[in-house]
Amino acid sequence: MATRQIRTIGEECLGKVCKPVREINDRMRTLIDDMWETMYEAHGVGLAAPQVGVLRRICVIDVMDDDPIVLINPEFIEKSGEQTDDEGCLSVPGKVASVTRAEYVKVRSMDMDMNEVIIEGEGLRARAIQHEMDHLEGILYGERANEPYRDLEDDEELYEE
Ligand code: ZN
Repeated sequence: MATRQIRTIGEECLGKVCKPVREINDRMRTLIDDMWETMYEAHGVGLAAPQVGVLRRICVIDVMDDDPIVLINPEFIEKSGEQTDDEGCLSVPGKVASVTRAEYVKVRSMDMDMNEVIIEGEGLRARAIQHEMDHLEGILYGERANEPYRDLEDDEELYEE
């Protein structure tokens, strides 16, 4: 495993629609291993493949109060409720903004063996799933925010995705 460079706002790869994964080969397994390592090293709670410059529909999420999840070719099948909170992104360092998201989501995804799985989330887990899946469409959270990006205060703690 190795860490990869996290791409930041302004880089072209963050604005692209990602392509589906067709098979989990050694290259994809290495990519996913590297994504976990990169996310944990950056103390993030989620990371999408385009954030390391790979335009494939893969995200990893670990909000620390639930099981870590890998999403491969995910699609929403249900969204409900509403939550508004500050959000941050490893690709927009030092910034924060308030974003309104669904409180609950249900997603159809593939697992590491390319079997279909259904994943649910609420609260922070639902927020992270929505944030990461936006990355697969080339959307950064600032485009959905209720306000312009603010600077993160020195003493402010935030989950970055
Ligand atoms: Zn992000």
